[in-house]
Amino acid sequence: MRLGLVLGDQLSLELPSLKALDPAHDAILMAEVEGEARYVPHHPQKIVLVFSAMRHFAQALRERGWQVHYVPIDDSDNSGTIVGELRRWRERLGAAQIDLTECGEWRLEHGLRESGLPLTWHRDTRFLCSREAFARWAEGRRQLRMEHFYRGMRKRCGLLLEPDGSPAGGAWNFDSENRKPLPRNLGAPFAARFTPDAITLAVMALVRQRFGDHYGEIDGFEYPVTQQQAGELWQHFLDFGLAAFGDYQDAMAEGEPYLFHSRISAALNIGLLDVRQLCEDVQQAWREGRVPLNAAEGFIRQLIGWREYVRGVYWLRMPDYATLNHFGNARALPEFYWTGNTRMRCMAQAIGQTLRLGYAHHVQRLMVTGNFALLAGIAPAAICEWYLAVYIDAFDWVELPNTLGMVMHADGGYLGSKPYCASGRYIQRMSDHCKACSYRVDKVVEADACPFNALYWHFLIRHRQRLSANPRLAMVYRNLDRMAAARRDGVWQRGEQLLAELDAGRPL
Ligand code: FAD
Ligand code: SF4
Repeated sequence: MRLGLVLGDQLSLELPSLKALDPAHDAILMAEVEGEARYVPHHPQKIVLVFSAMRHFAQALRERGWQVHYVPIDDSDNSGTIVGELRRWRERLGAAQIDLTECGEWRLEHGLRESGLPLTWHRDTRFLCSREAFARWAEGRRQLRMEHFYRGMRKRCGLLLEPDGSPAGGAWNFDSENRKPLPRNLGAPFAARFTPDAITLAVMALVRQRFGDHYGEIDGFEYPVTQQQAGELWQHFLDFGLAAFGDYQDAMAEGEPYLFHSRISAALNIGLLDVRQLCEDVQQAWREGRVPLNAAEGFIRQLIGWREYVRGVYWLRMPDYATLNHFGNARALPEFYWTGNTRMRCMAQAIGQTLRLGYAHHVQRLMVTGNFALLAGIAPAAICEWYLAVYIDAFDWVELPNTLGMVMHADGGYLGSKPYCASGRYIQRMSDHCKACSYRVDKVVEADACPFNALYWHFLIRHRQRLSANPRLAMVYRNLDRMAAARRDGVWQRGEQLLAELDAGRPL
């Protein structure tokens, strides 16, 4: 007989390794292991999500006639690692061969490949662009650009195209229409919530007991844990969120963690949703006039553009990619990333909701917590570990390129053409946080000035040599050069002072 391994982020009935096996003769192994749950301090809700969804999936497989060997984390024979469990069960069942699908993390896949076990690997067809196809596309390119990749994917997938193959609406990208701040009278739709069932409640108790030392709250868990619930979350977004997704994609608001975002990332990343179906549904909603083109295009770009692109970069460049540090940053991650204890209102809101829900939307991750880490010169490994730990949707293949490449520019511009650095003015334009903040966004050097402002200029000054040749930053450096020398000195001093506060372990 053969043994099929199903990992916690592979909960799809279409999984290639499942398709290759026969329920009449073969068996499935699923294991909750300490090694995976603890190698970074994962948010407790993320552990609940994965274990509960695994238990529900095992049930679904059994209902379809599969023999499933399920190892709970508190099983006294549990060896604590995936390789250990595979060895144990292979021996116990006398399995001649182990079938498995490509992993989502280089670390785990490498460990399995080195294990000496008789493994038959299957390509992860849940993604639209295979690792090999991405490598072929990237071949010979010194720098990669998502926009070029995305256009190719639109053509390949036949999405949002006119009959002659040109892009619908005459443009590939409507991003310039997607940067509106939230109008005062527009409320976000109510969030779809899923009440924990008996399985999830049991997992919550277990996680509370074993992982109570991890950062993040557990009680508000309300994510979908089955394919059906994930489908309901998706339908809710199609009905209430998608139409405004484009316009307010970059907006942030006090006390509004989700706005018009879909919240599907966790369900999608663990296999409960199918990306092809999502794209078809969005295209259909646009064709039927239910959503505007800028919303449909913006959403499809995230899925077949950014999502597939970062995965491609990850597998192309690992394991070296994880060690890159273009700016030579060495600063420790401030404690307030783990507590939300800061007077910076935008940071406190983004970190607070992250600890409460395991969720922040893209612009909060990129332009608030990410922007601060970039400007403050945090060591890439430290900030990458934070993002991997605290978000419910975080898996190395997607978290690492987003953090190390997009946010920290630690790959020197391989993934994105310029660092996403911004002063407090950007956050003021896109949110209402500054009105509720103890700092003043219109000040730069004073004691109550917004820390983002001086740190922004400090960042540009200290990395001038590396960044000033970048044409996309030419205007910014012209503005810096127009600044009076005394003012520039003041800004530098204020930046130094803020960094010294961080180094002394004092919250800003
Ligand atoms: P929506 O805003 O509704 O977007 C729809 C979908 O598009 C998302 O669910 C996601 O699947 C996809 N998507 C959008 N942007 C990206 C992107 N840049 N990369 C990959 N997919 C994208 N996403 C993760 O799934 N896991 C992570 O660990 C993760 N870490 C991130 C770290 C940083 C520093 C940044 C800047 C972004 C990160 N992202 C990550 C991407 C993005 O922020 C999340 O996918 C998104 O916020 C999830 O919320 P949502 O489902 O409501 O997304
Ligand atoms: Fe954030 Fe600065 Fe605005 Fe305060 S003033 S909310 S720190 S951008």
